[in-house]
Order: sequence, then structure tokens, then C-alpha cells
Amino acid sequence: MTWRGVIDAYRSFLPISGQTPVVTLYEGNTLLLPAPRLATQFGVDIYLKFEGQHPTGSFKDRGMTVAVSKAVENGSQAIMCASTGNTSASAAAYAARAGIKCVVLVPAGYVALGKLAQALIYGAEVIAIHGNFDAALKLVRQITESYPLTLVNSLNPHRIEGQKTAAFEVCDQLGSAPDYLALPVGNAGNITAYWKGFQEYREAGRSDSLPQMLGFQAAGAAPIVDGRLVPEPRTVATAIRIGNPASWQKAVQALEESHGRIEKVTDEEIIEAYKMVARLEGLFVEPASAAALAGVAKLAKTGFFPPGSRLVCIMTGHGLKDPDTTLNTCKLQPRVVPGEQQAVMELLHDLNVI
Ligand SMILES: *Cc1c(COP(=O)(O)O)cnc(C)c1O
Repeated sequence: MTWRGVIDAYRSFLPISGQTPVVTLYEGNTLLLPAPRLATQFGVDIYLKFEGQHPTGSFKDRGMTVAVSKAVENGSQAIMCASTGNTSASAAAYAARAGIKCVVLVPAGYVALGKLAQALIYGAEVIAIHGNFDAALKLVRQITESYPLTLVNSLNPHRIEGQKTAAFEVCDQLGSAPDYLALPVGNAGNITAYWKGFQEYREAGRSDSLPQMLGFQAAGAAPIVDGRLVPEPRTVATAIRIGNPASWQKAVQALEESHGRIEKVTDEEIIEAYKMVARLEGLFVEPASAAALAGVAKLAKTGFFPPGSRLVCIMTGHGLKDPDTTLNTCKLQPRVVPGEQQAVMELLHDLNVI
């Protein structure tokens, strides 16, 4: 069967009618990769859901197909969002697909290079503000309340509806829900969406259990873990650099209902996990995605996971979006030698390759 996107695949679970013009880039159907080397290291059966495989390189496309389809159905000519980068890339792409306008507000200087390039090439009006994501979102909420622009941040319930399809896919790919579902938490829309999806799938008889939700925030941007707003969030993982999550209460509810946990990880732990998943499993993810794996590593060290349990870790975005972190933060650079065989051979010898 040809894959035609998450609306086509899960229509009966979504607020879509025969009248809804479906705006899609055939998103969804992403890989669920077994991670045998990480599994050995952590003593838990790990699968990585590679959401970086999406048309714009992050899971945001799942929600955007529904949000933009509904916006067009309701006659909207333009959409607007605040973004740490990936929401703007996705909104811009789906707006292009729909032939409507897109305006995005981003924090100046804190958007990964690839994400900024995406929003620009898809033709969005990109406005960088002196202020962080939380300030941008506040502005977007005010503007979209008074003007005919449809808000497509995850406050828009259609975003959550689309994103919950990731939980359906996990169940379909594994044959049932995993014991644990680990993911990074920023604005907390995605953890809300996964929990909703797992519950709905079980109610529909399409899976017979529910996972424990494990959320991870960056230590410098951990309002839910610390129980207080963070006025100036800081972290290398720009996608979760958020101090006042819009879906805070819903995230807490998902954690409580699933008997889950929310923890924080330092930037050092994030960078370590970022390199580890690339080197052990051949998967290049962005720093925010690595935060989830860093959290799993931390819990594994404390003996948190019973032997034989199954865990799915959500790799939310593609590593190619943020080459700066690889080259500059991690200080990974090529070695430079003269273009002669002897020079190359000497280096290979020094490196113990030959
Ligand atoms: C948006 C995003 C997150 C955070 O998701 P929330 O729904 O804001 O909690 C994490 N990782 C990546 C790559 C993202 O784009």
C-alpha cells in the first residue's frame, strides 16, 4: 500500500471530514530502529523512532498537516507561529504546499542554521525578535487573537491531534505499546500528544497496554522539573530552550496518569548522548533529541529499567539541521594535511588505522 501521510493512514482518529482539503507532504511512517549496541550498554531493549526522517526533518510535520488542512478548510489565508526553529520550518513548508502565507517569529540568534534556512527557502516571512521563544509566543498569541492569522503553535489542538499519530505508529510497528516512551520536553505539546495517542489506541482496541512516559528537559530550561518558570532558559538544545511551556499542565497530567517521570539533563550529558547515538547506531539527531537519550542513559545507570523491558526513545529531529553544534560546540573538525600520499599515510599511522 502506498503511504499517503498521517491523515490518510489514521483518518478515523482525526478531526477530518470529506470536506477537509488535505494538505500533506506524505509525512509519518518513520523508522523504528532497534538499537542493539545502546541496548547492550543500557541493559534495556531500546528502539529509536527516527522522526528526523520527516519531509522537513522533525516530528512537527505530523501536527502541521492537520493544522494547515483545518486552517484551509476554515478559509484561512495565512498562518503564524512562534518557533525555536522546527515549527517554523514545518509551518513554512505546509503553507507553501497549501498556497497560503506564513509568518514566523523566532528568537534572534537562537535558531539552528538549517531550520532558519528552511523557513526562508519555503518562502515564509521570517521575523527574528530580540527576546526568547516565550516572548515570541506571547506576541503571536496576542496578534492571532485580533487579526485573521491562524495560530499553528501546539496551542492549536489540531497540532496535538496530528502528533498523536506517532504513538499509533509506535504501537503498529512494535505490535503493542512499549513499557517506556522517552522524549525531550520543550513546550510540552509532544508529550501531551503521545499520551493522548496511546490512550486512544488502547480504547479502540488497537493496543493492549500503556507505556510509562519519561520526559527530559535541559538543566538550564527545566521549568516542569523544577516547578517554576525559567525567565532566561539556556541550553545547547535550542529546540527545548523554553522557560514557560504552553502545555505544562497537560504534561504533568500525562506524567501522573502514566506513572512516568520527568528529569533534567545537563548540556554535557546531551552532547555525550548526541555523539553516542551517532557513533554506536549511525543515527545523526539534533541536540534536543539527544536529551531524551541522555535521560535514558542516566536512568539506566541507577538501575531504573527492569531487565527485559522495552523502551522507545523519540529522536525528534535530524542532526543536519544544526551543523554548528557538531563543528563548533563539539569542536569536531577535519584534519588538514598536504595532498600527498606520504602525508596521508603518516597520519593514518599516527591514528592507528594502519
Ligand atoms: C519541538 C521539538 C521538541 C520539543 O517538543 P515540545 O512539543 O515543544 O515539547 C523537541 N525536539 C525537537 C527536535 C523539536 O523540534
